[in-house]
Amino acid sequence: MWLKGGQLYDVDNGSFATGDIRLDGGRIAEIGRAPSDAPAVDLDGAYLLPGFIDCHVHICVNTESADGNNPWRDALPATIALWAARAARRLVRCGITTARDVGGWDYHEIAVREAIETGWIEGPRLLCSGKILSITSSTRPYYPGMYEEADGPDAVRHAARKQLANGANLIKVLASGAVNSTKYERADAIQYRPEELRAAVEIADDNFTHVAAHAHATEAIKNAILAGCRSVEHGTYGSDETFRLMVEHGTYMVPTICTAHAFLQDPAFAAKALPHARERYEYLQTIRYANLNKARETGVKVAMGTDVGTPGNHCGDNMQEVALMVERCGFAPADAIRSATTIAAELLGLDEEIGRLKQGFAGDVIAVDRNPLDDINALRDVFFVAARGQIVRNDRIH
Ligand SMILES: [Zn+2]
Repeated sequence: MWLKGGQLYDVDNGSFATGDIRLDGGRIAEIGRAPSDAPAVDLDGAYLLPGFIDCHVHICVNTESADGNNPWRDALPATIALWAARAARRLVRCGITTARDVGGWDYHEIAVREAIETGWIEGPRLLCSGKILSITSSTRPYYPGMYEEADGPDAVRHAARKQLANGANLIKVLASGAVNSTKYERADAIQYRPEELRAAVEIADDNFTHVAAHAHATEAIKNAILAGCRSVEHGTYGSDETFRLMVEHGTYMVPTICTAHAFLQDPAFAAKALPHARERYEYLQTIRYANLNKARETGVKVAMGTDVGTPGNHCGDNMQEVALMVERCGFAPADAIRSATTIAAELLGLDEEIGRLKQGFAGDVIAVDRNPLDDINALRDVFFVAARGQIVRNDRIH
């Protein structure tokens, strides 16, 4: 099957050129010119890019509830699983063909990953962390299916092994407090101590995988980098020193700047949230834009991540993160696209498999009608998606 008549994006050069793509066996089998009699999908005049990669999602969390204190109160377990399956479908249909879930809910996300791989349901390629490893926390009752409490290095090793035994692909730890937390918890305070973070990294290393560290606090970011965590999630209070350390150690930053934007864009929705959570979002929004600017200028490897799953931050509009990187944080469109393709693929260890339109790579292809280098918001109107060689969306056919 050929995808014919489009402009193909070269992520490395940052430019489009005319070409056709042949999909076969789930892969990009050939790039060239489609023979006139070959079966083809007409994508005349469209702009084709590799499928995008979101490095920070929570497919199991109800985003329609503004109440941070257990968005699934009184829900049936199967309701959560069905929500996660719908979220996965929304991800792939908006152009996210690979996603890293960094905090599931009672392992429903692992079941969704398996159902996608089996071909039962539509969704992106998923990498999952299972539950989030946390110190004893006042916030655990807010997310009862998401936290695994473990204090001290030995307990952290056990908790990390437990996630892997339940099918996790990586380990997620809380190096600092969270924004969506109780009023007793501070995002600018550290949680896990260096020896506990190192314990998580040891178990990840043993199992050929990596640790993603949630870290807002300056000291937590530093601890995560020095412990060998592969990515710093959020990085809100990053400093000149921490960004320099990230460059030195090759640590990736996954900024998730669209969380506050998504939460605050509907004032009626935001008004229903816990007052301390609303205040934190308002306060943090500008800090995060400024700090991502600084990280970019310092040369930090930034991998795109949305944190869909936070209140109001729904699966399906993930490309708003890429747009905000350009509009608020000084990224050139080509660099923002690299964050969501080649750099994200490197973070996941899949850079020989995804992130480029290249012969032999996975058949993950998206298409838009307008040139995203001229208008980055064109990416929010993806009309065609192929995931692992299967066409899951083509709005030109009615
Ligand atoms: Zn998150």
